[in-house]
Amino acid sequence: MPAKSDPKRTTFDSRRFFLKISLILASMALLSGVLLDYLSFKHQQAAYLPWASLARRHTPSRLAKKAETKTSSTDQKKSVKQEEPAPKSVSDRSGKGNLPLVAIIIDDMGQDLNFMRELVNLKVPLTVAILPDAGQAVDTAQMAVSHQLEVIIHLPLEAFNGQTAGSGADGLITTTMSQEEIWSRLEASLERLPAARGLNNHMGSKGTASQYVMEIIMEFLKQKNLFFIDSKTSPKSIAYDLALKRQVPAAFRQVFLDADEDRGKIKDRLFELFTLARKNGQALGIGHPFDDTLSVLKTYLPEAKNYGVELATCSQLIKRQQEIRQKKP
Ligand SMILES: [Zn+2]
Repeated sequence: MPAKSDPKRTTFDSRRFFLKISLILASMALLSGVLLDYLSFKHQQAAYLPWASLARRHTPSRLAKKAETKTSSTDQKKSVKQEEPAPKSVSDRSGKGNLPLVAIIIDDMGQDLNFMRELVNLKVPLTVAILPDAGQAVDTAQMAVSHQLEVIIHLPLEAFNGQTAGSGADGLITTTMSQEEIWSRLEASLERLPAARGLNNHMGSKGTASQYVMEIIMEFLKQKNLFFIDSKTSPKSIAYDLALKRQVPAAFRQVFLDADEDRGKIKDRLFELFTLARKNGQALGIGHPFDDTLSVLKTYLPEAKNYGVELATCSQLIKRQQEIRQKKP
């Protein structure tokens, strides 16, 4: 008898065959998924909780958590629940002792002890930039130090306008001087003002643009462990960048409080400085021994905290800038 051929049965068999294959494939996929999850948990040395892994899969910040697992083995040992990122703390800048810092330098000091007395009476941290060859330089420095004000050398540096005489130009360093001459002027300035913690330039539009002059000054500051403040009397100044390259602690002036004729703007400039500090965590301004400047400082500096800022010396400001730089990725 010829074998019965049943086309219906053949069709039925192949259907069952494909159904079986797909079932096997589906279970293999499921098993391998579970196995992979298990292995990845084992690798992280965390407790294996399949439902937790399913929940994890739906959280939006999986990538962030992946990065977290790389950080440290102690972190990896935390339970699954603890993998959720901690809520961000309230603004880093708020809180006592952590307000944005404002440093104010009063330039051209050393010529008038009465003005120095007025600054002392403000009873706020300030930096006093003293012209080393000025008549009252030594007494000004002494008064500043005994009232916890910071002293820096206000170094006369050559300007493009060729000013070589008059107030503040004594002891001027020029771009045509020899290395030895520049060095000995720096030494003499520090001998007059041994309490100085740093140095900024008086005039100096030409001097701060000169690589030759600034290299010598940076070497001096490095050897004497002093910081540098670029008064930025010219946009061509290379001084601040060079200081950073030579690893001399440095900052630069952001606001001149009273550089122009219109002294009516001093208050606006001071508030501009406060705003910059609140924006960047710190800001540096320079003022001069003018009565108008003093009257604005008298009005607003003692209550600086009401404007959300804290007054500081230049060295405190430089420290804060370094901290901010380190925090940046
Ligand atoms: Zn000056």
